[in-house]
Amino acid sequence: MTADLPVVAIVGRPNVGKSTLVNRFVGRRDAIVQEKPGVTRDRKEFEAEWGGRTFRVVDTGGWLAAGESGLTSEDTALAAKVSAQADAAMAEADLVVLVVDVATGITEEDARVAAVLRTGSTPVILAVNKVDDDRRGHEIWEFQRLGLGTPYPVSALHGRESGDLLDAVVAALPPALEPEDPAAKPFRDGIFSVAVVGRPNVGKSTLFNRMVGEDRSVVHDLPGTTRDSIDTVIDTDEGPLRFVDTAGMRRASRVDEPTEYYSTVRALQSVDRADAVLFVIDATEGVTHQDQRLAERVDGAGCAMVIVLNKWDLLDAEARDDVKYQVRQKLHFLGYAPVLPISALTGRRVHQLLPALRQAETAYHRRIPTASLNRVLRDAQAAHPPPIDRKHRPRILYATQGAADPPTFTLFVTRTLPPTYLRYLERKLREEFDLGPTPIKLRVRRRGA
Ligand code: GDP
Repeated sequence: MTADLPVVAIVGRPNVGKSTLVNRFVGRRDAIVQEKPGVTRDRKEFEAEWGGRTFRVVDTGGWLAAGESGLTSEDTALAAKVSAQADAAMAEADLVVLVVDVATGITEEDARVAAVLRTGSTPVILAVNKVDDDRRGHEIWEFQRLGLGTPYPVSALHGRESGDLLDAVVAALPPALEPEDPAAKPFRDGIFSVAVVGRPNVGKSTLFNRMVGEDRSVVHDLPGTTRDSIDTVIDTDEGPLRFVDTAGMRRASRVDEPTEYYSTVRALQSVDRADAVLFVIDATEGVTHQDQRLAERVDGAGCAMVIVLNKWDLLDAEARDDVKYQVRQKLHFLGYAPVLPISALTGRRVHQLLPALRQAETAYHRRIPTASLNRVLRDAQAAHPPPIDRKHRPRILYATQGAADPPTFTLFVTRTLPPTYLRYLERKLREEFDLGPTPIKLRVRRRGA
């Protein structure tokens, strides 16, 4: 076993299927397949290889459930074990995979371990096991509540989808010391990346082909980071622009349409790799429930976004007003996103998309000097002070921009600010700093006055 290989630690409750999953990773059947509480109590290590990377997989064995091995069933004892295991995994691993069980849903222990994992700096991937058929598919989204990003469905028993999980694992590993085949690396190369997302038949392929087809002298197809995915890079006047996972869109006729569910999973994976999203809606159908659900998930990824109302050519004036109204009502949480009515088929107004994306790109990367930030917040407070909370008026002491992509601000305050007030501040920041089409994040920390 090579000591300097990256380490992936598998954690999770007993019986969620950790060792079966480890077997999938390792591709051998000689690890323990039958998992009973206790069987894999001792940690086990295996060497695995995927996508040209070799890494060590550590099966941490799971913590002991309350009542096992004479432990008292006191919550505190269990909580301590859970935390200890998660801490140990984070300390020794480059990446942690938390395995949960779709059949049981989120248990208290899952929530606890997720809370510990969220506090660390080690990246975490969430695997939802026992998704043995399509009917279970939609249930995996419940696990987003664990706050660990996109849940990856797997059926360790059938091997279903474990390739996608492995792709995600490999993509999240730290870069290899000796750079391997450069073409096999994910693309963190600074090229602004766009995902075209929407329900089947809203016109994504038509739009993509139109954007790529016209006036683009150089088009490159590059291997994407998932198996059988292709990314397309086009040259624009203002530099290269990448479309993520365009394999399905470049084919003239798509023979086997994936089910709605799998196309959703795939769309969300491409969103995870994108800086901006073109969210395409079929205006002839209005904003459907599925559009809303997809939009909610995409919004969670924190990308810049442009809402595209496609097939505008088929609508009369009344229908157009109605769709715009629906967007404001049903997608109100995307209030920051510009809305562009277009016709991918006729090409009408498609040329407005590139400038909109460029604006999104600029806003998404924007860095605001601390002094200007604090000046704007001071003025905003003076114009409209925070409401008094139990005899005290909260004050913002100072603020910093902790991160870009998207712009993320930390406000240090004397008391908690109500959500309405935070929305007011967000609006002010957007206006002052031209943060139009990007989401922004406000974090609030309490400090003594
Ligand atoms: P995808 O599944 O989202 O990639 O959708 P497609 O690009 O395959 O488009 C689905 C259907 O809608 C096709 O028959 C397209 O010709 C049609 N379509 C796409 N965009 C437009 C548009 O702007 N106007 C009209 N009238 N039809 C469109």
